Formats: sequence, structure tokens, C-alpha cells
Amino acid sequence: MTVVIVGAGIGGLTLALSLHQVGIAAHIYESVEALEPLGVGINLLPHAVRELTELGLADELAATAIPTSTLTYVSKRGQTIWSEPRGRNAGYNWPQFSIHRGELQMILYRAVLKRLGSIRPARAYARVSSIDAVGLRAAMRRVRS
Ligand SMILES: Cc1cc2nc3c(=O)[nH]c(=O)nc-3n(C[C@H](O)[C@H](O)[C@H](O)COP(=O)(O)OP(=O)(O)OC[C@H]3O[C@@H](n4cnc5c(N)ncnc54)[C@H](O)[C@@H]3O)c2cc1C
Repeated sequence: MTVVIVGAGIGGLTLALSLHQVGIAAHIYESVEALEPLGVGINLLPHAVRELTELGLADELAATAIPTSTLTYVSKRGQTIWSEPRGRNAGYNWPQFSIHRGELQMILYRAVLKRLGSIRPARAYARVSSIDAVGLRAAMRRVRS
């Protein structure tokens, strides 16, 4: 079985790495000619960092991201409205990371190139059949189990 993934974004790249890890072949089709590190800062919560750690990306993430220790909302006068610990500071086994979306995508992209070889231009992709959709559901069940 080969799973077809449309879109080499954060979701598609992570899915491809997860499938590869459990021995399921995947082909990624992407519409842009070259992936660029675009976006803004996002936060990876501990459950997401756990999954990326399982994919062997913890060191590269830690070298790029900032561990988030506290979430604080402040008023326009700088008075604290709400503050709470996050990540390891909140007792999780994995950190919360603040990271630029584009840098995260590039970490995933490099790992995909190394492990799966390449991504394919989307124009080469014709259509998704119902058989492919059924195959994806079966693949996700195997990834989860
Ligand atoms: C301001 C902002 C802040 C955010 N903060 C957070 C945060 O703190 N934490 C968090 O978890 N999330 C955050 N998000 C959301 C997060 O960025 C998205 O949920 C995530 O990038 C979605 O991943 P994705 O793979 O589904 O889509 P994307 O990363 O958008 O990738 C989609 C890919 O598919 C390609 N594509 C699209 N259509 C086709 C097609 N027809 N054929 C082939 N390829 C195609 C695109 O070119 C692109 O490369 C934030 C988003 C924004 C805008």
C-alpha cells in the first residue's frame, strides 16, 4: 500500500514521517515549486512535541525553538490578567516550544528528504480515488495502534 498525501505542509510532512516509521510507503504531492520557510511564530504543545520526539526530531527542535515556560495575558497597561505555567514548567514530560512555522516546516522537510527521498510536483497528480481514501483510513489505524 502506498499512501498519497496532498500538501507538504506541517500536517502532510509529519504524516509522511509517521507512516514511514511504521513501514507504510507515502508519496507527498505539493503545488508550490519550492518550499520556503514562510509563516509566523507558533507554539507546539507538549503532546505535539511528544510525537515529533518519537520521530527523532527532538534535538533539532530544541536547537531551533524556544522552550515556553509561561503563558501570560497582560492588559495594555502591562498588568497581568492571567498567567499559567506551560510545558515542563507545568509538569509535562515534554516541553512546549515556540517556533517559527517555516523553520518547523523546514525541519520536517529535511527529514522527509533524508528518509523518503523527495516530494513530487502536484501537477503530476491526477485524482484521489475512493480506494485511496479507504487505504488512508487503514493506514491511520495502523499508525495509531
Ligand atoms: C497566525 C497563526 C498562528 C498560528 N499559531 C499556531 C500555534 O501556535 N500552534 C499550532 O499548532 N498551530 C498554529 N497555527 C496553525 C498552523 O499553522 C496550521 O494549523 C498548520 O500550518 C496547518 O498545517 P497543514 O499541513 O494542514 O497546512 P499548511 O501548513 O498550510 O500546508 C498546506 C500545504 O499544502 C499545499 N497545498 C495546498 N493545496 C494544494 C493542492 N491542491 N495540491 C498540492 N498541494 C497543495 C500548500 O502549498 C502547503 O504547502 C497558526 C496559524 C496562523 C495563521
